[in-house]
Amino acid sequence: MSERRKSLTSYRRVVIKIGSALLVDRGTGLKSGWLDAVCADIAALKANGTDVLVVSSGAIALGRTVLGLPPGALRLEESQAAAAVGQIALARAWSQSLSRDGIVAGQILLTLGDTEERRRYLNARATLKQLMTMGAVPIINENDTVATSEIRYGDNDRLAARVATMAGADLLVLLSDIDGLYTAPPHIDPRAQFLDEIAEITPEIEAMAGGAASEFSRGGMRTKIDAGKIATTAGCAMIIASGKTDHPLRAIDDGARCSWFAPATTPVNARKTWIAGHLQASGELQVDAGAEQALHSGKSLLPAGVTKVGGQFSRGDTVAIIGADGREIARGLASYDADEARQIAGRKSGAIEGILGYAGRAAMVHRDDLVVTGQFQVPQDLTVGEDMRAG
Ligand code: GLU
Repeated sequence: MSERRKSLTSYRRVVIKIGSALLVDRGTGLKSGWLDAVCADIAALKANGTDVLVVSSGAIALGRTVLGLPPGALRLEESQAAAAVGQIALARAWSQSLSRDGIVAGQILLTLGDTEERRRYLNARATLKQLMTMGAVPIINENDTVATSEIRYGDNDRLAARVATMAGADLLVLLSDIDGLYTAPPHIDPRAQFLDEIAEITPEIEAMAGGAASEFSRGGMRTKIDAGKIATTAGCAMIIASGKTDHPLRAIDDGARCSWFAPATTPVNARKTWIAGHLQASGELQVDAGAEQALHSGKSLLPAGVTKVGGQFSRGDTVAIIGADGREIARGLASYDADEARQIAGRKSGAIEGILGYAGRAAMVHRDDLVVTGQFQVPQDLTVGEDMRAG
């Protein structure tokens, strides 16, 4: 069987992301029949030895119906309140539905800082691991009651990808009302073709998903492709599939149409997985062609190869490394503050002491702190327990 068509049970650990529209009906509230069917699919996966984690949207949508709020955009404090009401109902529904199959659910609410800060990331990961050791299914959502626009994911696609890398999952399934990736939006362009296998997320693939993330595309194809970049870089495959039928996971195994994104192929350690999955880079380092080549052959980024420094960052913060064509080619932790980086950019490492007044690191980003986009895979022989412990 091809890698793409292998059954879901052949994966060790699967994260399933469920979109709000699948779970919640604007008028009648929770779609409990659908939820029961998904839970039966999850139980079947678990019975075959696959660990399952769920990233469930729907708190805000459900809270709206419970509170009887009118349709239309919500102000921040209204959506926070709706999430508070909806999340409690959502968690209860998951817990009750999974218990029909004898499965225990555990709720985890994450904020952006819980995955971007290393110490908090390790803490959340330890909790996930403990829940799975106990055989429970983590039900995860963003902590929407405290998340404000500057400090939130805003979409559960990228949150789910981050959870997948955090948990050492080898498959992420995004269930929504779209059955996969098309060469163009199918409702607009009748010539749009369906893509059932994506070997690599190239600039062409990104272009098919539309432009930069916007209010309009939130939770649309753009965030799904971003999620794909996070997951596949860490060696986790991704499937985009329709969740509109009952038993959507069983349907994938029965051959339902879906898009499969191949995981990248070079091993990476757990720390680099964390670096690669960072959502918010604090700054940017533009590099020349020579430096780009050096990065691809596994070398550090030296100040001499940096042509421009953007943003404000401190030593140790994440920076995006941008190639000559303007595309992000790597992510890493800066060895210097932004102001210092500006002073030494384009200069030989030997000149650093003369410029800054102290002998800092020779590299602007050391190779141990650097991940080249799209090149890495979790080693296949790594057991889940080891990956979770590897720090
Ligand atoms: N966290 C939001 C909610 O539960 C959903 C975000 C999304 O669907 O992407 O309502």
